[in-house]
Amino acid sequence: MIDYHMHGNFCGHAEGELEEYVLEALGKGFLEIGFSAHLPKVVDPDPYHAMLENRLPDYVALIEHLQMKYRGNISIKLGIEADYFPGLEEKTRELLAKYPFDYVLGSLHFLGDWHFSSKAGRHRYDSEDPAEVFPRYFEILADMIRSGLFDVLAHADALRKETFEPGPGSQKDYVRLAGLLAAHGMAIEVNTAGLRRGAGSIYPDRLLLEACGAEGVPVTLGSDAHTPADVGRDFRYAFRLLEESGIADMAIFEGRKMERRPLTDIRDSQASSRLYELLSGEGGPGKGGPAGG
Ligand SMILES: [Zn+2]
Ligand SMILES: [Zn+2]
Repeated sequence: MIDYHMHGNFCGHAEGELEEYVLEALGKGFLEIGFSAHLPKVVDPDPYHAMLENRLPDYVALIEHLQMKYRGNISIKLGIEADYFPGLEEKTRELLAKYPFDYVLGSLHFLGDWHFSSKAGRHRYDSEDPAEVFPRYFEILADMIRSGLFDVLAHADALRKETFEPGPGSQKDYVRLAGLLAAHGMAIEVNTAGLRRGAGSIYPDRLLLEACGAEGVPVTLGSDAHTPADVGRDFRYAFRLLEESGIADMAIFEGRKMERRPLTDIRDSQASSRLYELLSGEGGPGKGGPAGG
């Protein structure tokens, strides 16, 4: 099993040394993990959201150190979670090119001046209209995929919250996004943080995942852990959702090259079944009940 979305104390809003995440993953039987701290913002730097650029070399060096220290026990990938800022593609590309990342998760956390994923942005949900916001959001996601900056589309519909949902017309957006992901050779992330963050279900919505399954888009799995205990959280629900959505392959990355592994191989490997047992023993899922969407 693999967890490709983990933060740590390089991000001002996350906690725990990176090594604590490694030890947690080892204890849970993971064979491979990847760190994905937030890439320094290329506009309006904000150490609460993402480390400042002068810390990026330390982040890379620490992960390289951990790779050596735990070699033979667990594979540790050097990932990063990069925001997409329309119009700042070249600045983002230049920053990403400076380091030997294994993969880049592409994310939207900002919609214009609205940092919708932050505590500070929560109140805006009361005044925004989902019927107006979601079509605009999906349009930016499409540009984001076409930018070629990213390897994985992370928490694709992180804008969902409680009753703030895309309307029934969103099926055509899902089909279009899945087609674009396939055309650009990208993977989509199945992110269990949706269960803990008020969306009430895993990101992305089951219908988007089914559209990806139909297009042969592979997936990565991510807990979006911002504290070590959350590594691998609720992965049993993610696996069930994957199997029900017709997803065939998981994507593994090295040096920004993707390799596909059949989902069944990952599920059936011994370490994974051990992990599955361990995870089955944990308490209930995050707020909102089992995965669905
Ligand atoms: Zn974060
Ligand atoms: Zn994120």
